[in-house]
Amino acid sequence: MKPMRVGIVGLGSIGGSLGYDLRDRGCPVVGVSRKSSTCERAVELGIVNEAGCELERLGTADLVILCTPIGKLEAIARQVIPHLNSEAVLTDVGSVKAPIVAGIDPLWPRFVGGHPMAGTHESGVEAAQRSLFVGRPYVITPTPKTDPEAIAVLDRLITLIQAQRYDCAPPIHDQAVARISHGPVMISAALVAMANAQGNADEAAVAALAKQLASSGFRDTSRVGGGNPELGLMMAQYNRDAMLHCLQAYRAELDGAIAAIESENWDALNQWLIQTQGTRPDFVD
Ligand code: NAP
Repeated sequence: MKPMRVGIVGLGSIGGSLGYDLRDRGCPVVGVSRKSSTCERAVELGIVNEAGCELERLGTADLVILCTPIGKLEAIARQVIPHLNSEAVLTDVGSVKAPIVAGIDPLWPRFVGGHPMAGTHESGVEAAQRSLFVGRPYVITPTPKTDPEAIAVLDRLITLIQAQRYDCAPPIHDQAVARISHGPVMISAALVAMANAQGNADEAAVAALAKQLASSGFRDTSRVGGGNPELGLMMAQYNRDAMLHCLQAYRAELDGAIAAIESENWDALNQWLIQTQGTRPDFVD
């Protein structure tokens, strides 16, 4: 089979990581990014065969992957499309799918939304890593009118980077990631804020001691809430409805726990904890 010629727009952590693996699998990769210094660095690191700021470079690509920050994906798609050849497949890697797919799908007949579910806490070209996606989920969100040949091209990409393909409708993707990724960022941030409560001198003393005592349990539960604020904000802005639904459902669960504790209904609390203990392995090992 002829190697797939790939264009990557946005040579940051995700775009760069894709570039490394696609080149390692024999695909010629052309990169386009905003800063010429990023393009030069991507060539130096071996992420791409060639790179520059000009979208004209994408004209020979069989597959163009948009890897810019989520708020810019639709605007960039509009700029990229006039430079694509008519057979090119266009995809994006945005962490939220419904608004992106609604914006780009009508613009290009061979567009398929996607979300490779792996990442780093760092951003930019230096954060790109080899084999980042191996064994990780790669969700694609075709619509009923998506060209099956375009889906086949995405399937080839996913196979090349050794990820695991999942297909679903864009809103289902957004609701699922709200439950396991976007919502937990807010919940974990609330946990950090609660642990740091210092409304009066006594509370301040408690917070000071808690900081000394915090260990692995707090490290696990607070990790995502103590991350990059821009990412949490982006999740809330672009996945607003699913985020709100998730946080309201979480509040209802907490209210149930509070009611059981207030009324000393230890059986109810115990049943709830037995259920959550049994359910967790369905999500993570
Ligand atoms: P990132 O490291 O900040 O990379 C984005 C890159 O896009 C930047 O390095 C920037 O390169 C480039 N860029 C910005 N504006 C541009 C423009 N107008 N034209 C061309 N290039 C532009 O971000 P990231 O973490 O890779 O995230 C990129 C996308 O992946 C987002 O849509 C995000 O939702 C998605 N995603 C992220 C993760 C994750 O964990 N990080 C996981 C899955 C999906 P310059 O240096 O040239 O400015």
